Amino acid sequence: MLYLSKSKYCGLWQCPKIAWLSKYKPEELSLDDIALSRMKTGNEVGDLAMSLFGDYVEVTAYNGEKLDLSEMISATKAEMARGTSVICEASFSYCGLYCAVDILKKESDGWAIYEVKSSTQDDKAVYAADVAYQKYVLENSGVRVAGTYLVCLDNEYVFDGTLDIQKLFKITDISESVAQEIKNISGNLSIAETILNSPEEPDIDLSESCKNPYLCGFWKYCSKHLPERSVFDLYRMRFSKAIEYYRRGLISYEDLLQNHCITNDKQLRQMEYALSDRGTYIEKDHIKEFLDTLSYPIYFLDFETMQPAVPEYVGTKPYAQIPFQYSLHYIDDEGAELKHKEFLAESGTDPRRAIAESLCEDIPRDVCVIAYYKAFECTRIRELADTYPDLADHLLNIESNIKDLLVPFQSGYYYNRAMGGSFSIKSVLPAIFPDDPSLDYHNLELVHHGGEAMAIFPEIQYMDPENKATARHALLKYCELDTYAMVKVWQELIMASR
Ligand code: SF4
Repeated sequence: MLYLSKSKYCGLWQCPKIAWLSKYKPEELSLDDIALSRMKTGNEVGDLAMSLFGDYVEVTAYNGEKLDLSEMISATKAEMARGTSVICEASFSYCGLYCAVDILKKESDGWAIYEVKSSTQDDKAVYAADVAYQKYVLENSGVRVAGTYLVCLDNEYVFDGTLDIQKLFKITDISESVAQEIKNISGNLSIAETILNSPEEPDIDLSESCKNPYLCGFWKYCSKHLPERSVFDLYRMRFSKAIEYYRRGLISYEDLLQNHCITNDKQLRQMEYALSDRGTYIEKDHIKEFLDTLSYPIYFLDFETMQPAVPEYVGTKPYAQIPFQYSLHYIDDEGAELKHKEFLAESGTDPRRAIAESLCEDIPRDVCVIAYYKAFECTRIRELADTYPDLADHLLNIESNIKDLLVPFQSGYYYNRAMGGSFSIKSVLPAIFPDDPSLDYHNLELVHHGGEAMAIFPEIQYMDPENKATARHALLKYCELDTYAMVKVWQELIMASR
């Protein structure tokens, strides 16, 4: 008999090899921090949506660490028989096919399935397979399905101080897409049966499915035949374009160069420098032109932000970027001492007013401010200016004086092979200073990248004093390194321009 869960079926819909690998080689699954945090957010949003229709009964049950599926199925039956009108995680199984419905709601002519997603996009095509599978299992279990709906966060919702979940969530009727998709289920299930009952790994090559619509956690495993550097690593190469080259056998940098199919300057340089170490490519005049746009005093600014799926602060929408921390290195004049200031909000409070005031205190008007990928810092400052009109004048002055340290790298004025076609500060820094442990993010404790900063900050409010102090220290050290890295990179550009 075929045993399948909803997530396995969805994996199968994306690529049958996902279902096979999940069964036979689960240890090959590697989820990155982004995927893990998306799952956590999904669970939180799912919990919140449960009360969308008022009182409800949730039938989730555990046996140790694992879900107790048979208990959940029995509890669902009991609740339906009892006349409960909203059942969350309502569970069913039919001939080895299992599913739990996020919200099952009683209607006059049957039961409606509500599938909750933490995204703000109601992409029917992507989610229809998921809901069609649920409908198939329910109908074959003798439940009349009266409607199928997608529940997503509404990206137009603005929090006014009281959370209104009726407005936070957007409900879309996806019956038509589900009706189309349900026609494929029998076919998909027989493919699943053939694939999953065979210990032979399915011969399925890389394709566009590897990145869409669900991020596949088996990419590392399935792409291990690729050379160390391949078309998939090229600067700004679209995944679908890379797949096109891959299918044509144009995979390694050697293949691509011999075939003369790449014309982008930066991609060409990336490949040429990767194949033979040519030291550092430098366009002195352009670098000098960039440096001439800067003037003392120079302030190096970097924000850390969080992105709550469910808005917590007045005036914000789902997934708004909320700055909670910054680091600021500054130099008053040529040859002067490098100084440092920083700000880190109290976890659990609205950090925006405090950070906006602190920025105005720490950065004088009309000074040169440097950010790395300035669009991010500029947008955050403009948002703060919109929120606090009394500080807007000063904030917008800061914003208007921000220069972007990314420019010399993104414009191709400075390149070495260790950058590997990436111009993020996390790639540029170790490429320029490979042997300096003080500039190595790996040597930091607890927080090594923005994703970890974003995850740990909201948790600090629940920590005991000792862990709280450790986490705050780690955040401060991480953000400080971001701006110190900018100082070092700027100094390197000065040297390179001479
Ligand atoms: S990486 Fe691609 S080929 Fe491999 S399982 Fe995922 S979607 Fe399928």
